[in-house]
Amino acid sequence: MSCLFCQISQKKIPSQVQLDTDDIFAFNDIHPKAPVHILIIPKKHIPSTAEVEKIDTEILGKMILSAKKLAEKSNINQTGYRLVFNTKSHGGQIVDHLHLHLLGGKMLGPMA
Ligand code: AMP
Ligand code: ZN
Repeated sequence: MSCLFCQISQKKIPSQVQLDTDDIFAFNDIHPKAPVHILIIPKKHIPSTAEVEKIDTEILGKMILSAKKLAEKSNINQTGYRLVFNTKSHGGQIVDHLHLHLLGGKMLGPMA
């Protein structure tokens, strides 16, 4: 599997790890768009939100709970943050492995 984020979650490619559990991995975005910019991914390869199935419900919940935990750890839980899933080309998705962006640490502009 040549997927970049699969390789990052398997630690074959280095990253600044924020969270590593049995099924979730989180790491700093290499080109941060905000002071806090963390990517939260399932270890299971799912290409995007367009391919999630009912069986993935638990993993999706764990991704959001991980975002909450990382927002607390990053001290942005009181000021607030944005959670973003980009999906396929019109959604701005570049890496075809499901990922949740956690952005915060500054006042974010309006959505595109
Ligand atoms: P998206 O546009 O939603 O597919 O977001 C992909 C994100 O992955 C972008 O914000 C990139 O900056 C980030 N990214 C790409 N390669 C790496 C990497 N090796 N380590 C960390 N983040 C990366
Ligand atoms: Zn993958």
